Amino acid sequence: MMIKENILKIKEELPSAVKLVAVSKFHPVSELMEAYDAGQRRFGENRPQEFAEKVPRLPSDVEWHFIGHLQTNKLKLVLPYAYMVQSVDSLHLLQSVEAWLTANPVRKEPLRVLLEMHLGAEETKHGMSEEEICGIFSEASNYPHVSFCGLMGMATNTDDQERIRSDFERIASFREKVAATYPDLPLNELSIGMSNDWRIAVGCGATIVRIGTAIFGPREY
Ligand SMILES: *Cc1c(COP(=O)(O)O)cnc(C)c1O
Repeated sequence: MMIKENILKIKEELPSAVKLVAVSKFHPVSELMEAYDAGQRRFGENRPQEFAEKVPRLPSDVEWHFIGHLQTNKLKLVLPYAYMVQSVDSLHLLQSVEAWLTANPVRKEPLRVLLEMHLGAEETKHGMSEEEICGIFSEASNYPHVSFCGLMGMATNTDDQERIRSDFERIASFREKVAATYPDLPLNELSIGMSNDWRIAVGCGATIVRIGTAIFGPREY
């Protein structure tokens, strides 16, 4: 029953305005249900097949967040069910999402998305530059099936707290800038912070934290 205790402990410390997404990737449905029974309603998954398999096995009031790299040939596994796609990491993906939603009118409301900003020092990490993100927001009307809600980012994978804080401060101040530049878009959400750095993220203005290991324990790949 550690899952329940872990959630309650995090919630005790997390400001009530910050939304907790329980990252349940690689964990079985029985463990998601333990979290659900502890009151958790937001879950995050990063693999389309696993996402699509889990959605129908949990109660329908779960809010599903997709947080992983999404290939354009997997959209049908994710877009009908996602409350939010946090990980739109390229213009190509965004254009494919808009085209898919135009061709498949399965949703009653536009799909909430966050644009993923490249933050960490790692070359391999997905995400867009500030220029690419501004380019998309300035042409937001090209995407009527999408609702832009803000930004997502991952800090450099390091123990250096100051490096993590500076990554988070960079995305936080960029979010403020784009929110002021594009006042017609509701760019209120800032999804930063995972198991090891969510307290830093909250200090930098996170509105969403994505926590896996600290809730469900280590993943067995
Ligand atoms: C796996 C994952 C998380 C959660 O990571 P933990 O360190 O287990 O909390 C958060 N965000 C993304 C994008 C992930 O892929």
